[in-house]
Amino acid sequence: MVDISFLGGGREVGRMGILLDNSSQRFLMEYGVNVERMDVPIHPKMPIDALLLSHPHLDHSGHIPSLYREGWKGRVYATPATFDISNMLLKDSLKVQKIKGMQPSYGPNNIAMMDNLGMNTRFGKPKSFKTATVTFNDAGHVPGSASILTETDDKRILFTGDIKFEETMLMNGAYRDYRDIDVLITESTYSYKDHPPRQSIVDGIRDMISKTIEGGGFALLPCFAVGRTQEMLLIASEMGYPVYIDGMGIRATKAALMHPESVKDHGKLQEAFGRAKKIRNNKQRKDALRKPSIIITTAGMLNGGPVHFYIKRLINKPENTMIMNGFQVDGTVGRTLLETGRYIYEDMDVKPRMAVEFMDLSAHCGKSNLLDFIEKTNPGKVFLVHGEHTEEFAKELEGMGFDATAPQNGDSFTV
Ligand SMILES: [Zn+2]
Ligand SMILES: [Zn+2]
Repeated sequence: MVDISFLGGGREVGRMGILLDNSSQRFLMEYGVNVERMDVPIHPKMPIDALLLSHPHLDHSGHIPSLYREGWKGRVYATPATFDISNMLLKDSLKVQKIKGMQPSYGPNNIAMMDNLGMNTRFGKPKSFKTATVTFNDAGHVPGSASILTETDDKRILFTGDIKFEETMLMNGAYRDYRDIDVLITESTYSYKDHPPRQSIVDGIRDMISKTIEGGGFALLPCFAVGRTQEMLLIASEMGYPVYIDGMGIRATKAALMHPESVKDHGKLQEAFGRAKKIRNNKQRKDALRKPSIIITTAGMLNGGPVHFYIKRLINKPENTMIMNGFQVDGTVGRTLLETGRYIYEDMDVKPRMAVEFMDLSAHCGKSNLLDFIEKTNPGKVFLVHGEHTEEFAKELEGMGFDATAPQNGDSFTV
């Protein structure tokens, strides 16, 4: 028998944490934070034998170093790209917490310890523990992202991580040929709606970019550093216009390029990145604004980053376009802008004269793809996590004959 405890990410997006306990060994999957409020999961029962990390986003990794500060000396298992990128994100988060006057629950030495003790995993290559075998497979979400299959005590437990089945310009679709799954723990970010076809979104973005630049304006693309910046480079690079890249996306792209297996077409990404002009200071930012161009920069939700340098200079001119393109968490500057039409940041509270558009380039699977996957996998039991509509989706799945549950944080189940 295996006890599964949901420590975080139940009926919410953020601060993931799931503990598997087979009474001989304990495996913690993810240990994240809620990035806006820095809420953390319930503390796992210690000791844990290993921490399995699906991908580097802070809602999955952001609280891991705190375990080392508490004296844990165990190993994190993740893909090489996940280690490199999470190292970068954790260091950046530490910096941001200090700027905001927060008291971080870990220091730089704890991040270093996570790295030094880290064990690399490769897609499709099982890792053996005393009482379990764990296999990581491509999840198609961001470079290096994985789903985690744990086989223990005659049970096959699959955690999807954040997952995307549809192929994009950057990523292959997720691996999906799983057999005999007893328990499926799946992310449910978009369990309530489908995304428009990817190609129509890509075409739409290119259309907006060319109209803007042909009209003498700048196309400003606020992008998440990991995944989205690289995809946007691929979308923009063949258009024949100057492309600038600014902010943490530069380092994230370098990290992805160091691991060719983490993306669909390493050569194409390298070419697109090589062609883009990298911006590192305000003088270069001013230079980028001399003639119409495409500017790809962080932060994707406008909650900080160099994007504000550009917004302040482009906001009053209707020939410019800002294309938002990712999930906007409640309370961020980006969400407020999309909901109220006002740009509220530092001492500014204005209605932009530049065009502000939203194009839904999600890195998560939509509802139909998720349903297809659940039907194809046909698990004995389904747990829905990492979503704000998991209860409704559980009811829907029950109506289809599945044994489905939307656990709350703190719930435990024996399987
Ligand atoms: Zn993610
Ligand atoms: Zn996530």
